[in-house]
Amino acid sequence: MRVGCPKEIKNHEYRVGLTPESARELTHQGSEVWIETGAGMGIGATDAEYEAAGARIVEGPDPIFAECEMVVKVKEPQAEERAKLRPDQVLYTYLHLAPDPEQTADLVKSGVTAIAYETVTGPGGQLPLLKPMSQVAGRMSIQAGASALEKAHGGRGVLIGGVPGVLPGKVVVIGGGVVGFNAAQMAVGLGGDVEILDRDPDVLERVGTFFEARAATRFSNKTNLEEAVCAADLVIGAVLIPGAAAPKLVTRDLLKQMKPGAVLVDVAIDQGGCFETSRATTHAEPTYVVDDIVHYCVANMPGAVARTSTYALNNVTLPHALRIAKMGWKEALRANPHLAEGLNVHAGKVTYRAVAEELGYDY
Ligand code: NAD
Repeated sequence: MRVGCPKEIKNHEYRVGLTPESARELTHQGSEVWIETGAGMGIGATDAEYEAAGARIVEGPDPIFAECEMVVKVKEPQAEERAKLRPDQVLYTYLHLAPDPEQTADLVKSGVTAIAYETVTGPGGQLPLLKPMSQVAGRMSIQAGASALEKAHGGRGVLIGGVPGVLPGKVVVIGGGVVGFNAAQMAVGLGGDVEILDRDPDVLERVGTFFEARAATRFSNKTNLEEAVCAADLVIGAVLIPGAAAPKLVTRDLLKQMKPGAVLVDVAIDQGGCFETSRATTHAEPTYVVDDIVHYCVANMPGAVARTSTYALNNVTLPHALRIAKMGWKEALRANPHLAEGLNVHAGKVTYRAVAEELGYDY
């Protein structure tokens, strides 16, 4: 199969669908790989590296959309890319169709076979192609929070790890899932005084067993949450209720009881945010202050560490890409029901129930 990877064109997107190493795995198994010139620039991968991996460099995206049987990307195709998709083509990328009727209509019209990273499942029903981005965001949240805690950035002037003779900063992580676990790992690693709240006893047990005495765990109810947040220097919002908007766990009233200069990092901002005063920010201007509390609410945190994020993403997307390229998409999906869950659009139909129901398509 001929596999193509165009340069991402979404604003401030620096990741790329295939690393040179992934291109090499594909060419090694006999697939042909076409890469748009400069596609890897955002992660520091040169055209020469892709060529050394056996790929062919092409000028602009058109040859890829016109002649490749599978297009591998990161972000959902933008309008100008959607116009180039063809019925005999597989599109393999993040799509997030449910809140995006315009994109869905264009994909349906194009006749393309669209496999969405975010709905591919794992053996336990989890979403393994989303997980690495949560890992990245979780780890980054502590970096971002530590920086915002500095005086020059509006924070309380607290060093998370403290120093000998001075207590460490208090880090409260709300939600002990993938983001929260990774945030806690970083905060513990820095020597912070870390507390993790969740309302799922299994999660509390898993996290408690892992961290032992290095982090405290507490059931997430109003009383415990308020107490923890008011004592915190840094609060990480890492909750998720699948399919629903994030619950507003920290109200504006509670903000007034927090320590002035404390920092809130709302990783759940892509689901509306779990602090009442959160509004989405960008990497260009990541923070703002409400009632003396610094807010960091960047909705696409992994974009800032495009190289790490691209490699983490490729680790989980490549095995399926290799199978699709080798067996053809029909056989690959038949052989792997988890990959089959990724099929969102095919031959002019929405093939993923939740998207069809949300947007009013026949299923
Ligand atoms: P997850 O499902 O692994 O974990 C969510 C956790 O929240 C679960 O353990 C759940 O029990 C817990 N939870 C739910 N309600 C709670 C409550 N009231 N109090 C305490 N805990 C509660 O999800 P995840 O992968 O860790 O993702 C968390 C959020 O981060 C999601 O909204 C996700 O979309 C978002 N995210 C954002 C970015 C970004 O760039 N901003 C990147 C990746 C993920």
